[in-house]
Amino acid sequence: RFTTAAVLEGPIIPPVQVTYTQNLIDGQFVDAASGKTFPTYDPRTGEVIAHIAEGDAEDINRAVAAARKAFDEGPWPKMTPYERSRILLRFADLVEKHSEELAALETWDNGKPHEQSVTAELPMLVRLFHYYAGWADKIHGLTVPADGNYHVQTLHEPIGVAGQIIPWNFPLLMFAWKVGPALACGNTIVLKTAEQTPLTALYVAKLFLEAGLPPGVLNVISGYGPTAGAALASHMDVDKWPVMSPLLLQLAFTGSTDTGMIVQELAARSNLKPVTLELGGKSPFIVFDDANIDKAVELAHFALFFNQGQCCCAGSRTYVHERVYDEFVEKAKARAVRRTVGDPFKKGTEQGPQIDSEQFQKVLRYIKSGIESNATLECGGDRIGNKGYFVQPTVFSNVQDDMLIAQDEIFGPVQSILKFKEINDVVRRANATHYGLAAGVFTGSLETANTMMRALKAGTVWINCFDVFDAAIPFGGYKMSGIGREKGIYSLNNYLQVKAVVSPLKNPAW
Ligand code: NAD
Repeated sequence: RFTTAAVLEGPIIPPVQVTYTQNLIDGQFVDAASGKTFPTYDPRTGEVIAHIAEGDAEDINRAVAAARKAFDEGPWPKMTPYERSRILLRFADLVEKHSEELAALETWDNGKPHEQSVTAELPMLVRLFHYYAGWADKIHGLTVPADGNYHVQTLHEPIGVAGQIIPWNFPLLMFAWKVGPALACGNTIVLKTAEQTPLTALYVAKLFLEAGLPPGVLNVISGYGPTAGAALASHMDVDKWPVMSPLLLQLAFTGSTDTGMIVQELAARSNLKPVTLELGGKSPFIVFDDANIDKAVELAHFALFFNQGQCCCAGSRTYVHERVYDEFVEKAKARAVRRTVGDPFKKGTEQGPQIDSEQFQKVLRYIKSGIESNATLECGGDRIGNKGYFVQPTVFSNVQDDMLIAQDEIFGPVQSILKFKEINDVVRRANATHYGLAAGVFTGSLETANTMMRALKAGTVWINCFDVFDAAIPFGGYKMSGIGREKGIYSLNNYLQVKAVVSPLKNPAW
């Protein structure tokens, strides 16, 4: 029985209004070139929140041209790094000032608990811009001790125009991870938001203008993937003869692995623009028998159910040692049943609705597949209510590695608990996936922790913790979970060219 049978008795009215619905190109909010709009929905009810300008190839062209002009003619790349840093800091201050409206808008468009928007997303966005503002005036090259009588140095220069495509699960954070480092390095940007969550990026883009960001430096286009997104990935418009140099020079993408493969191909076939990809995952969370079981249950629950299970790094394969397996399953079930599902604007709600009808149906299909493949359904398994996209927190035990629910990224509140006997066995099974985004280990043994952190093939390994994020900690995937790293010092490399400059120590007399 769930504590929250009645999910939505008259949804709470969000304390915010939608102000920005047009695309931002060259410092102006404008309608789509086609004049078309698309709806963005409230996932609590499935009702339309607002109609948004639907960008497509023509809007992308205009945005790329504006970004190129802002890069070539300045003032952005020609400003001192300190001036750029000041603008990033002013922007962070404005976000703090408007964080109430922003948190409400984020929850309304995405369905995540309002408390989470207030205490996690907004502070993390602000922190990230403080972090990259700090980098802006610390980016510099090296002098290189090469053989021969030469002075050799490297210059670290901005690439030019960066294209960025983001998903819907953390709209503001994904905006920050992409825009922060690109601007700190002096690039200009065309960013396409996810069609499910266009609202907050437009709002913060307006705050950037207020903070003094010159027009054209950041352009934001709303629209669908196969139209606007594909146009950005495959952009190869060049200056008119006789210049003929490519306009769009870097592409950063976050989304599913399938789309990542399309995007990389489009980028390669157009003008070979370098691509960074942050893609899907099927991360193991491994509980050893020397761990405190109650704490392990709570952390494993958080690792999977946080953000409605819609995390690329969700701990979606819970491996538990056979000696503590039955106790763990019992307690994991009890915890899931206690999870508070409901209106994300209501205080105390732990879980809101899934993002949209498509994801909701997909999650229910995976639950059906778990039941059909004879995993044991411990609790949940169905929708809640008959409005919006609420799913019961669901726990399966007796899950086998070859079941679909143990292999595919479900991206929903469905925990799969698997049993293991010994450490080598669990290492092999945890790594037996084409993903490699993250992994969690829960153990009382330092030796086990040290063995596991080296053996797991994942971009992040959390030991006795999970989902610890920081602007300074790099994030990204091994294998088909992606290419490159975001955040920290590592993200700067995505947005810089390195130029080697060589000159003789003595000027030769011609
Ligand atoms: P998606 O790949 O369908 O969409 C992501 C973005 O790509 C959206 O902006 C979408 O409009 C765009 N897009 C879709 N088709 C496109 C195309 N043909 N060309 C160019 N752009 C296109 O993913 P989704 O289902 O919306 O998001 C969930 C997925 O994203 C999950 O698989 C999740 O693991 C992944 N994700 C990964 C990370 C990470 O950092 N690794 C973070 C968040 C989400």
